[in-house]
Order: sequence, then structure tokens, then C-alpha cells
Amino acid sequence: MWPEVVDAMDYAVRNKARMSDLHDAVGRRIAELTQAEAAMVTSGATSAIILGTAACMTMGDEEKMERLPDASGMPTEVIILKSQRYLYDRSIRAPGATLVEVETAEDIRAAINPKTAMMFYLQNRPENVRLEIGEYIALARDSDIPIMCDAATTVPPVASIAETVNLGFDLICYSGGKGLRGPYSAGLLLGRKDLISYARQNSSPNHRAYGRSMKVSAEEYLGMMVAVETSLKFDEKSEYQRQLDIVSAMGRELSLLPGVTTQSHVPSAEAREPFISVHWDTQQYKVTVTEVKQALRDGEPAIEIRALFLSDGRLDLTAAMLNKDEAKIVTARLKEILLMSA
Ligand SMILES: *Cc1c(COP(=O)(O)O)cnc(C)c1O
Repeated sequence: MWPEVVDAMDYAVRNKARMSDLHDAVGRRIAELTQAEAAMVTSGATSAIILGTAACMTMGDEEKMERLPDASGMPTEVIILKSQRYLYDRSIRAPGATLVEVETAEDIRAAINPKTAMMFYLQNRPENVRLEIGEYIALARDSDIPIMCDAATTVPPVASIAETVNLGFDLICYSGGKGLRGPYSAGLLLGRKDLISYARQNSSPNHRAYGRSMKVSAEEYLGMMVAVETSLKFDEKSEYQRQLDIVSAMGRELSLLPGVTTQSHVPSAEAREPFISVHWDTQQYKVTVTEVKQALRDGEPAIEIRALFLSDGRLDLTAAMLNKDEAKIVTARLKEILLMSA
């Protein structure tokens, strides 16, 4: 978390306000900062998906909100690109929706019917080669179907928030505890004023709401607002350079070992952080990537590297959460593990 976020949370602990007034004010400020029409703080991006979907299904109807996840008599179908089915799409189904997979514009036109609640888009993930994002959004607009975007991991750069807002999505979800460096368990739902108010009706602190369990504290409301403010002021270029210097130094150090090479990587749109991958001659060092990952984890201090399923099985090193001295501990430990296997 940004130190500014910690200070804001501390302030919120010591000062009292009505939760709804605080959420109104924080929502207005976040909306202003992100160029969105309205905003709310959620308990993570997955909560934003759940509450946004519930909003599109119930559209503020008290009786319907009371019944969730019994969704009989409501629009329940959510259109999703087949190539964008992913880890978190269960959150769309949580309030009682069902997923309808499509691939082409014709599929979408055929799929839209009175039971359609929403269209869904996963930002920066497998592009659907058969349908451009602009066309996808236009199809939703033409049919008056709300369209939600999960943009959880697209920050930094923080400027991408306003860009995504201006693409024309009705709802956009962000993770607060990732690149925005807000409270770990918070998130954001940005979008249309009416839909945000319905999402809030479906959520805590309303006692009977479907989302009552997805609580957000006063500290998190204020912390999330300051996380957005601080992110917008932050010099992302110099932070990128700081990380690049650290991973480059790690690469130089590790390459000194015979039979070990490292490669620098240009960050993909999804995870804007420079990183190196480490490769070794397996004849010389008889240890696999999985074994090295485990040995790093088992050591003292425990060292955690990026999930191998996200790195195509490579051993990748990043520096977003490392300072120079900590980086030296990582390289020393890695050299030790490799040498022990030789
Ligand atoms: C991490 C992530 C989420 C979940 O975010 P939480 O804030 O942890 O709920 C959702 N979607 C994408 C694309 C993510 O990367």
C-alpha cells in the first residue's frame, strides 16, 4: 500500500462518518479522478463483478434484489466471448446468471433476447480475432444491453483507467490491492450512475442485500480513494526504471554462473513490470524450475516468484516488491540452490 493510503486508513479509523455519506463522497471523488460517471468501492474486483452483474439483473427492483440468487423472472443471460472464459468468470454466475458463449457478431445478434442481462469483456486478454472490441461494445450499445469490463490488472499505467472508461463500457471492475496499491481487500466498480446505485443497493452495509457479506470498511473506502489519487500523481516512469535497474542487476549477477543465462523481457500489456527469466544448463544443474521455486519458498526468508502457469513454466524474476538489498538476497539464494544441484 502507498504510505498515503496507510495514513488515510489511520485517519478513517479515528474519525467517524455515516457510511453512506462517506461512500457517496468517495465515489464522487473517484469518479471525478477516473472520468467515470459514478464509482463505488467494493471488496475486490470479483465483488465488483458480482455486484455489477446483480445490478444488471435486478435494475433496482426491490423484490428481485430480495430474492437473489433466485433469479427466476429476471434477465439472467450474460454474453461472454468464448476466448475470454477465465479463472474468475464464476463471479458472473454467483448472483444467478448464466454464461452464453459467442465468437462472432452474428452469434451475438442471435444470442441477444429479452433474457439477456449483460455483455462481458475481459480487458487485455486473449484478443478475439473475429471481433474487435469497438464492434463488441457497439453491439451492446445498439441493443441497449449493459456491458461490463473486467480491467482488474491493467493498472499501471493508471492513465489506462480513463482510456478504458472512455471506450464506452457501462461498468468497469478494478482490483484495489494490485497495481493501484490500495487496501488489499478492496476494489472498484466504475460506470453508469444508475447501475452503480443498483450495485450499491445489492451490497453491504445494506443488511438484507445479496452482497452483505462483501463488506467494505470506512478505512477501505477512504484508502481506496487515496490510492487512486496517489497513483495518478505517481511517476510511473521512474518506478519502471527502478524495477528495470534491479532486475538487470539480478540478471548480470546470475549470468556470472557458468551455464546460466538470463533474458530481459518487455512487459506485456497485462503486467506492466520489467522482468528477467533465468535459464540454466540442466546437464550441469540437475534441478527443475518447479524444484527451484519450491526451494526458494522453503528457504529463510521465504522467496515467492511468479506463478509458473503465468510464466509458461519459466523462472521469472520481478522487482515490483523488491528493494536493492532484497534483490541481493534473491540472487544469492538462487545461486546457492543451483550450485547445490551441480
Ligand atoms: C486478480 C483479478 C481478479 C480478482 O481480483 P480481486 O480484487 O482479487 O477480487 C479479477 N479479474 C482479473 C483479470 C484479475 O487479474
